[in-house]
Amino acid sequence: MSTLAERLRASLAREGPIPLDRFMALALLDRRGGYYATRTPIGAAGDFTTAPEISQCFGELLGVALARTWLDLGRPERVILVELGPGRGTLMHDLLRALRGVPGLASALALHLVEPSPSLRAVQRERLHSYAPRFHDSLATVPTGAPLLLVANEVLDALPVRQLVRVEGGWRERLVGLDDDGRLAFVLAPVTIRVDLPDAAGDLPIGTVVELGRAREALVAEIARRVGTDGGLALLVDFGRLGPVGDSLRAVRAHAAADPLDEPGTVDLAADVDFAALREVARERGAAVYGPLGQGVLLERLGIGLRLARLVAGRPAAVRAQLEAGVRRLVEPEAMGERFKVLALTAPGAPAPAGFLAEEEWRG
Ligand code: SAH
Repeated sequence: MSTLAERLRASLAREGPIPLDRFMALALLDRRGGYYATRTPIGAAGDFTTAPEISQCFGELLGVALARTWLDLGRPERVILVELGPGRGTLMHDLLRALRGVPGLASALALHLVEPSPSLRAVQRERLHSYAPRFHDSLATVPTGAPLLLVANEVLDALPVRQLVRVEGGWRERLVGLDDDGRLAFVLAPVTIRVDLPDAAGDLPIGTVVELGRAREALVAEIARRVGTDGGLALLVDFGRLGPVGDSLRAVRAHAAADPLDEPGTVDLAADVDFAALREVARERGAAVYGPLGQGVLLERLGIGLRLARLVAGRPAAVRAQLEAGVRRLVEPEAMGERFKVLALTAPGAPAPAGFLAEEEWRG
C-alpha cells in the first residue's frame, strides 16, 4: 500500500501545488496516513509532551475554574462539558477528579469529546469510560441548550493555517509543491492575491510571511456563539502571539525539531495561534473575552502552589521532587509559563472567570 507521502507526491505531480492549510490537514488527519489518525504521539515515549502529561495539577486547576463558573451560574441541573482534542484523555481525567469534589456538579454534566482521530478516540474511551463520553468529529454535533464548559489544550495550534509572503505589489500564497527532483518543497503561487489583513501589514518588508488561521477562527466563533447564548466558560490554552506576522510552522518528531515537509504523516505539525484574531472573532460573535493570560500566572492565581503542597505532603523525597519539577515546568516563565497562554470566553455580563481579573476583560 502506498504511503501518504507517495500519494501526495503523485497528486502534486498531477494537479500542481496546494495551499499549506490543505497540506496540514492531510498530513495531520488523513484517514489512512495522517499523523493524528494513525498514532498516539503524546507523552514521553511519543513525539511531544503536553501540560496535562507533565502535571496532574493542570487538569485539576482548569477543573476548579470550570466549577467556579458552574457555581456562579447558580448550579444549573444540566451542563455540557466539552473537550476539544483530548489527546490521551489525561486532562479530562484530572479535571473530572476535581469536579467530583463539588457536590451536585458530577451528576449535572454530560461529557462530549471532539476528536477526529480514531486511534486517540480509542485511548480516550478507555481512560474515560466511567464518565460515558460521547464522541464527535466536530463541535457542530455537540448539543446546545445548556451552559457550556469547554477546554482545549494545544488543539488550535494543530488546526491548519495558510501562509502569505509579501512581494512587490502585494501578497503571494506559499504553497506546497514538488521541486525538480520530485521532493516536497515550498513554492510561491504565480499570482498575487487580495487578502484582508490588519492595516499595518501593508508596510511589512518584502519577504515577510503572515499566517491566516481561518479554521481556528471559525471554531472559536462557534464556541463564542454558544457561550454567549447558553452561558458557561471556555478555556483555550495554546502557544501563540498577538498578530499574524512571521513563519511559525514547525514540525516535531521524538521531542526534537524536524522538517515540516519530511515524510508527511510521520511528524507533528503546528503553528502559533494568533490570539489577537481569535479574541476579535470571539467578541464579534457575542462572548466576553479575557486574556490571553500567561499559563503560569493563571495557574498560580488558581492556587497551584497550595495544590502542590497538598500533593507532596508525606510523599517520599524522589516523588516530591518529580511533582515539584512538573509544576515548575508549567509555571516558570522560561519554561511553559509565558509561552503558553489562556484565552477565556464567557457570556457578557457574567462574573470574570476564576483566575482572571474583571479589568482583564478585553474590550477591543
Ligand atoms: N489536549 C491534549 C492533546 C493535544 S494534541 C493534551 O493536552 O495532551 C492535539 C489534539 O487535537 C489531538 O487529540 C488531535 O487528534 C486533536 N485534533 C486535531 N485536529 C482537531 C480538530 N480539527 N478538532 C478537534 N481536535 C483535533
